[in-house]
Amino acid sequence: MENSTDCIFCKIAEGEMSTNFLYEGENVIAFDDINPQAPVHALIVPRAHIASMNDVGSAADNLVGRMFHVARDIAKQKGIDKTGYQLLIRTGRDGGQEVDHIHLHLTGGKELGLNVG
Ligand code: 5GP
Ligand code: ZN
Repeated sequence: MENSTDCIFCKIAEGEMSTNFLYEGENVIAFDDINPQAPVHALIVPRAHIASMNDVGSAADNLVGRMFHVARDIAKQKGIDKTGYQLLIRTGRDGGQEVDHIHLHLTGGKELGLNVG
């Protein structure tokens, strides 16, 4: 799938934005959210431009699994694996998705309610 030139997360993935990466893998990257809703708030993002969970085909199943594994590793790296965390993929209008490039939110570092952000 081609990257979208107007997509902020494609630009971050392509190194066009100054970004402090938490993880840079072949297919997945992670970085801190610009507007954190918790002491730890990272975004785990595939390099490929996949608009939303609705666009995840079977070919991307491994990619989504990889995103969750990276999130788990970052939770450990940030020291919140024992205290706990939430993982969230917002999808579409009612889901509150603002950036149309699929991403997994990792939040933690405080006691979280059901809805964060
Ligand atoms: P959504 O509502 O789509 O699930 O979440 C989008 C998230 O991306 C928001 O939490 C927002 O703060 C974050 N975000 C938007 N633009 C940027 C950016 O340029 N850099 C970073 N690091 N985060 C961004
Ligand atoms: Zn994109």
